[in-house]
Amino acid sequence: MCGIVGYVGAQQATPLLLEGLTRLEHRGYDSAGIALLGGTGIKVAKRAGRVRDLAEGLPKRFAGRIGIGHTRWATHGPANDVNAHPHTDAKGLVAVVHNGIIDNAASLRQRLADEGIDLVSDTDTEVLAHLVALSEESTLEGKVVEALAAVDGTYGLAVVHADFPDRLVVARNGSPLLIGVGEREMYVASDLAAIVRHTTTVAHLGDGEIATVTAGGFTTYGGDLRPVTRTAETVDVDPAAYETGEHESFMHKEMLEQPAAAARVLSGRLDERFGTAHLGGLNMDARETRAIRRVKILGCGSAYYVGQMGAALVEELARIPADAEAASEFRYRDPVIEADTLYVAVSQSGETIDTLLAVQEIRRKGGRVVGLVNVVGSAIARECDGGIYLHAGPEVAVASTKALTNMFLGFALLALQLGRVRDLSIADGRRLIHGLDRIPEQIQEILDRESEIAAVAEQLAAAESLFFIGRVRGFPVAREGAQKFKEISYRHAEAYQTSELKHGPLALVSEVVPTVAIVPDDELTDRNVGALHEIAARRGPLVVITHADVDLGEVECVRIDVPRNERELDPVLLVVPLQLLAFHAALQLGHDIDKPRNLAKSVTVE
Ligand code: GLU
Repeated sequence: MCGIVGYVGAQQATPLLLEGLTRLEHRGYDSAGIALLGGTGIKVAKRAGRVRDLAEGLPKRFAGRIGIGHTRWATHGPANDVNAHPHTDAKGLVAVVHNGIIDNAASLRQRLADEGIDLVSDTDTEVLAHLVALSEESTLEGKVVEALAAVDGTYGLAVVHADFPDRLVVARNGSPLLIGVGEREMYVASDLAAIVRHTTTVAHLGDGEIATVTAGGFTTYGGDLRPVTRTAETVDVDPAAYETGEHESFMHKEMLEQPAAAARVLSGRLDERFGTAHLGGLNMDARETRAIRRVKILGCGSAYYVGQMGAALVEELARIPADAEAASEFRYRDPVIEADTLYVAVSQSGETIDTLLAVQEIRRKGGRVVGLVNVVGSAIARECDGGIYLHAGPEVAVASTKALTNMFLGFALLALQLGRVRDLSIADGRRLIHGLDRIPEQIQEILDRESEIAAVAEQLAAAESLFFIGRVRGFPVAREGAQKFKEISYRHAEAYQTSELKHGPLALVSEVVPTVAIVPDDELTDRNVGALHEIAARRGPLVVITHADVDLGEVECVRIDVPRNERELDPVLLVVPLQLLAFHAALQLGHDIDKPRNLAKSVTVE
């Protein structure tokens, strides 16, 4: 969460920083600010609101060739001008931007106050500026290291100091930070998106490392200031992936990219001859794969729900007991880690702190973890024993669509491979391969019906509260549907197992509480249809996501049919209309689709 960008070079920093912040706004957008280091020391401009508010309010002359910028997602203190980053020390010699949380901020604030220092903001970050300023080390790197030694917590950090006018110092612990190499100019950023128009040659800082960045280059150090080598590599990325192009939002663009993204995650991984999947990155041979007795999937938010879909796939195809758990809870229950369990960490960004901490907990206890991750080289990808890259391309919208689809397909590949070293027949393997092959075009078929689904969404948008229901494979689909709906439409959307309705929530069903029901053609269709009758009898409006030919009886409802595939693969198609429903409801309500209230992309704070 939050965005950091920095520049050092011959150009004026302000336009570059503002541009970078605009590209990072999906990562935090309650306030923004810039600090410049010029001949007269440090100048800071910051304010609550969006980057465009900051840009409009900048003083006429706001010049400097070294600078840092930040777009905030508040953890400590409300979003106001004072709490916006950068934060400075009392003399205004040091400016700091920070992504993450300082866990011991309260005691540090007290310590600083006892030393007579006046803290002006409510943030945890401000202590860092004072600690750097108070350090008596002779170098800026030494000052930053000394300050960080006092700190418990997570950070991506960029610091400028008036006494060291040629450099930025950056540090990382748990929050991404990368250095971009230009022609006699350098950039720093928390996400490549910020600088992609200027350079795609980047070095990633490791946890516990710091770096000095000057116009001429960069040097990386461990926490003890001993140099460590980090080489910059050129990443193959199309800058257009970070632009909305002709679309009104990233979410819309990314939804429509799903057929192409789905084709990419499958490409080269389907083995028709043996009816299996090729996942070389898992780093497991057939014997190790056979030895797995349980699969435990860990993710947060939508990645958790798709993890539940993945667990069902693994159980069905490989007949290995599997379940998914919220990574945010896992570490705190002192989990039992088993040597014959395969742990799977799922994260679009590969930086989700809760999932990363779960991975570290498992590895510390000797467990084997593989990652389903979209961002190549991200922290989770690096920490896992192996993994499946999702190849969805950069996902900018907070509400995940194409990454989620590819997570499901990644699970299908994993389940297929696990199944085929066990009891899944070659015929079944081939049946699923043919099914997977059809998914991209079937997603396209659903997307082609966008206007029809948009009309349904407009009706749902009027409701203050909705239910999303499904059973077994359909239940995580319902959960994801409700999640997406609430994230961007801000309507109360709650997911339930269809079977649980009459154990409580049916009490809320009425003509003003619609239900979106997931009713695929499967072994539970009749029971699901029975539940639709019960809802209709209470005058609950119904939208049913189903397959053509499913007989819904006389139930009054709006029906959205999705194409048929193999039953095991149904969820990935059932979920697409739910994305469109959420998107068009939010559009109808006039919300900012890509910057939903209170949220941000890539949750790097616990
Ligand atoms: N914890 C800091 C604050 O509340 C930084 C939050 C962020 O990552 O944007 O200001």
